[in-house]
Amino acid sequence: ATPTSIMAGSGRAAELGILFKGGEHLEATHRIQTIILDKTGTVTNGKPELTDVITTSGTQEDSFLRLVGSVERNSEHPLAEAIVKGIKERGIELLETEQFEAIPGYGVRAIVEGKELLVGTRKLMVQYGVNAEDAFEMMSRLEEAGKTSMLVAIDGTYAGMVAVADTIKDTSKEAVARLKNLGIEVIMITGDNERTAKAIAAQAGIDQVLAEVLPEGKAAEVKKLQAAGKKVAMVGDGINDAPALATADIGMAVGTGTDVAMEAADVTLMRGDLNSIPDAIFMSKRTMANIK
Ligand code: ADP
Ligand code: MG
Repeated sequence: ATPTSIMAGSGRAAELGILFKGGEHLEATHRIQTIILDKTGTVTNGKPELTDVITTSGTQEDSFLRLVGSVERNSEHPLAEAIVKGIKERGIELLETEQFEAIPGYGVRAIVEGKELLVGTRKLMVQYGVNAEDAFEMMSRLEEAGKTSMLVAIDGTYAGMVAVADTIKDTSKEAVARLKNLGIEVIMITGDNERTAKAIAAQAGIDQVLAEVLPEGKAAEVKKLQAAGKKVAMVGDGINDAPALATADIGMAVGTGTDVAMEAADVTLMRGDLNSIPDAIFMSKRTMANIK
């Protein structure tokens, strides 16, 4: 494309809140064959809410929530924020913790009132030798409803679970349908479990899901698709999306997300609306058509 058509194309895109970092990215966007969408904060609103609290018999709910909230208060994860908010809304005061540890992709651990608390995935429980198998069926049911469910162990014994629900953006389904109409393969990627991921993806009309991908694994998934000969765009909002955004042929950061994601990306979508992706492809095609 000529410098003039690129300038014009970038300008029109900017009016729609699509900010290309350079003309080469506007040109490259029309070649995209596969788009990977991060789940939380990209396909979904990223504002999960605490929906379910389940405790084993003999575990008192308020003191259980006090311990869980006290640990999660130390975490910056959106799931943790949702849990803490829900617990505070119930008027429960939180306690000081010691030795807080975030275990990326798995959960959190800390000492509260001399007790060891673990909150997180099935694998986290297995890793710490906690037998929580009796809870797995209930957990799966919550996940099939699209909720993210986290198991809680107190001093090595399973004590209950908390679940949070996030909703998909009103516009995600339409945007996915538009991408599919352009002949583009759409894949959703997440660290969340497979059941929850599939339930959320189904709501957005996405049938390909990469779930339980560890934070460092997203870029590896991009590379795999590239090795298969695909031109890949990654769309994400989080710190853990940054390596994948940098690896993709086109990295698109959702402007409502973190600065780290925007720095790593080639394009920023100022509107959280994923319709900006097919819009960007349209702009790119039009710019390329103007060369002739
Ligand atoms: P994502 O950001 O896509 O949800 P993560 O890799 O950050 O993926 O987390 C994967 C899983 O690890 C979560 O779905 C959750 O089960 C567990 N997890 C992560 N952080 C926390 C936390 N602060 N408290 C409890 N569980 C957590
Ligand atoms: Mg995200």
